[in-house]
Amino acid sequence: MNLMSTLIRDEIQEMSAYTVADIPDSCIKLDAMELPCRFPEDMQKELACALAVAEINRYPNPATSGLQQLLKETFQIPKQAQIVLGNGSDELIQLITMLLAKPNAKILSVDPSFVMYRRNAVLFGLEYIGVPLNDDFTLNLTAILSAIKTHQPELIFIAYPNNPTGVPFRHEDVQEIIDAAPGVIVIDEAYGSFSLDSFLPYAGNVEKLVVMRTLSKIGFAGLRLGYACGHSILMNELAKIVPPYNMNQLSLTAAKFALRHYGWVEEQINILKRERSRLSEALSLLPEVKVFASEANFITIRVPDVELVFKALKDSNILIKNLHGSHPLLDQCLRLTVGTFEQNQQVLNVFQHLFSK
Ligand SMILES: *Cc1c(COP(=O)(O)O)cnc(C)c1O
Repeated sequence: MNLMSTLIRDEIQEMSAYTVADIPDSCIKLDAMELPCRFPEDMQKELACALAVAEINRYPNPATSGLQQLLKETFQIPKQAQIVLGNGSDELIQLITMLLAKPNAKILSVDPSFVMYRRNAVLFGLEYIGVPLNDDFTLNLTAILSAIKTHQPELIFIAYPNNPTGVPFRHEDVQEIIDAAPGVIVIDEAYGSFSLDSFLPYAGNVEKLVVMRTLSKIGFAGLRLGYACGHSILMNELAKIVPPYNMNQLSLTAAKFALRHYGWVEEQINILKRERSRLSEALSLLPEVKVFASEANFITIRVPDVELVFKALKDSNILIKNLHGSHPLLDQCLRLTVGTFEQNQQVLNVFQHLFSK
């Protein structure tokens, strides 16, 4: 028998590594909810100057970097909320799971949702309870409240808006889940900037509530900057298990630069939201394509044959996410990140060519 197979935990051996698509630069990358643009050249130069003088000889100190204050001002995070920064919100999901990983602890979320909730449950030995969404990807509140009552989960994750579906949940439903939560509840607002609603104004009010956000989907996936906003009692406990120096000096510098130029970011968000409407309306005109309403920067659709559509897009050098097979509710579903006008036009060309006869 191979040595590692005797040493390494079974549940990890059964996992596969999170793989990132290996794709040529020329590819139109619409698989990972990245913003399709970067700063214009004059701003890039200004950023380069800021990075050039960053104190990379020193360990980073997020607390004195001024970033948290900037986050609070830019996103109107309530005064009473305390912030913990993560190397992407992925790290915060991991740390919050670790924080609550007592023996026999349980995590509850909806299914399908962000894969990292389940993955971290497995990593830290918590039982994962996934409550299925309705067929139209809305919340099944009755089922969730009943599962909460039965399982009494220590930790609940609700992605609001949800990934990979994008369909908005009702605010009142999520509020009921928060009220019913017997433990910590994380509202993961990775797509909050594209959505009409947010729980951020409640951050810091209730001990059990964490509102988590990230810069990844609004133009800065490469910086790896997520932030959790919550009550000081919980955030102080979370702060104890954050690895020292998890944020790096260059990221902190670039993130501060981005927030000082948030007007530019906001413009991109508005353009993207307009493109989302345009793309979903155009796709809705095709009778073969079922378009789900989205409040995120992606659109989930159902087509008669995912393989056919995926391949046609691929042949046109467009990469999207095939959701088929990842959950029964996602039968024949695809997820398209909204791109630039030109990119979306190319996507539409492929669909129109395939379906309008
Ligand atoms: C993309 C995504 C994240 C991860 O964001 P990072 O900050 O890049 O780690 C977290 N939650 C959801 C629901 C996401 O879709």
